Amino acid sequence: MANLQFANDENGNRIKPSPRGRGFCPICEGPMIAKCGEIYRWHWQHDRERNCDSWKEHETAWHRAWKEIFPESWREIIIERNGEKHIADVLTKNDTVIEFQNSPISVNTILVRESFYKNMLWVINAKSFSTNFSIRSKVSQKLMRLEESYKHDLKNFYSLESRDPVYNKKIFDLERDKESYKRIQEQEEQKLKDLTQSLESLNDIVSKTIISWEKEIYQNFSIFGMSEISERHKSDFKDKTIKINLIKSQVTLLERNLNEIENMNTYQYLGIKYVLVNYERLNVDMIERSIIILKSNMDTIFPTILKFQNKLDFLTYKYKADKYLFAVDTTKTIEKITGDITRLNSEYHELQIKFPDYHNCLSLDFEKFIQNELKSNEKRFYEASENEMKVQTEIFTLEIEKNESDAELETFYSKQKEEEKLEYEKEKGRIMRTYKGQYTFLWKRERKSWSETTCPVYFDIGEDYLFERTGPNSLTKISIETFMERYLNV
Ligand SMILES: [Zn+2]
Repeated sequence: MANLQFANDENGNRIKPSPRGRGFCPICEGPMIAKCGEIYRWHWQHDRERNCDSWKEHETAWHRAWKEIFPESWREIIIERNGEKHIADVLTKNDTVIEFQNSPISVNTILVRESFYKNMLWVINAKSFSTNFSIRSKVSQKLMRLEESYKHDLKNFYSLESRDPVYNKKIFDLERDKESYKRIQEQEEQKLKDLTQSLESLNDIVSKTIISWEKEIYQNFSIFGMSEISERHKSDFKDKTIKINLIKSQVTLLERNLNEIENMNTYQYLGIKYVLVNYERLNVDMIERSIIILKSNMDTIFPTILKFQNKLDFLTYKYKADKYLFAVDTTKTIEKITGDITRLNSEYHELQIKFPDYHNCLSLDFEKFIQNELKSNEKRFYEASENEMKVQTEIFTLEIEKNESDAELETFYSKQKEEEKLEYEKEKGRIMRTYKGQYTFLWKRERKSWSETTCPVYFDIGEDYLFERTGPNSLTKISIETFMERYLNV
């Protein structure tokens, strides 16, 4: 066993080592020699190697330095219980044993000593294993977590702010309506141009249209509805034209017939002019007004002139036709043809007179149509323009409402944010106050022994503060002054 700072004299008084001094061990009462060298601090040593207190480890400068903070009378105090004696490193005024532990000890050893001393605390030299556990400030850990949740909440506020779809949707729909009303106005404006232009060049259009009827060519109208009018007149025009042409060709044919009859050879008989024809050109209907001239005496004063007796008689001439000439009285035929021509001519003239002035008709109809179109065009234009204004007014109203609502929301959210910030600052303050100097630590390589202790444990890592063990994996930083106040001045 180790060295002591105090031994006993013959009377049992504590004495410090002095050169060549002799004393007795306070535990085993064996003789002790004072060691007063130049390198090591002065101390007592048993004169023979002995292990009188197995609990004592070899005293180091670290032990000595700690012990010397306390009054001499508190150091190396013998504690006796049930006949068992041990030297406590320090015993404070209120009977708390302080043990300074330099080397690692087992859980069992710790528990045995704690049960012997009862009211005790440990100061552990943790310098050597200060790199063996990682320490994290509770304050910074908790502040980090708090800040994370605060930022998360703020983000949620911002995303709340950005959602105001009701007004936006309404305004979007109205803007679309407005655009469609604008488009209608543009279309109507273009149509107005076309209508006005057509009205100005109406005469030209009508002429072209009539030419297209006559020549059967395609006529393109810039205004929808005009070709329908044109088609209607066109069919009337065609009907009438066909009728006139038909009469004309009939008259021509009749005139040709008349001319043909007039150019035929004639034969005068009893004051009637007959036309000579071949037998083949006769038919039963003509036999009444035909005569038969015998060729052999036709140039005499009394030529033989016969008439067909009946139909049978007419047929018998077929085989003796070369002996006769045949002639037909055409007076009635000519009268009929002339009559027909006169009648057809008067019909023709009548049609000519009644033939419509298509140019004028078409002009009137086109103009009427265009004027009507202009009226409805104007109506549509003004309706669209009024609707556009109406929609614009609605948009303005909604925009004002939206701005008001935005402002309200803005106020609401900034207030919320303010409150959130205040709460955050408050919590920050609380954390800093509550967890000030508190640390969590993790053994890198396990040193479980100190987790079993029931007495206070202080780790000395060689700084001007200690870590007090305040729970599993929990340390609190305390200054050496505070530690001393806690145990020295009681
Ligand atoms: Zn001894």
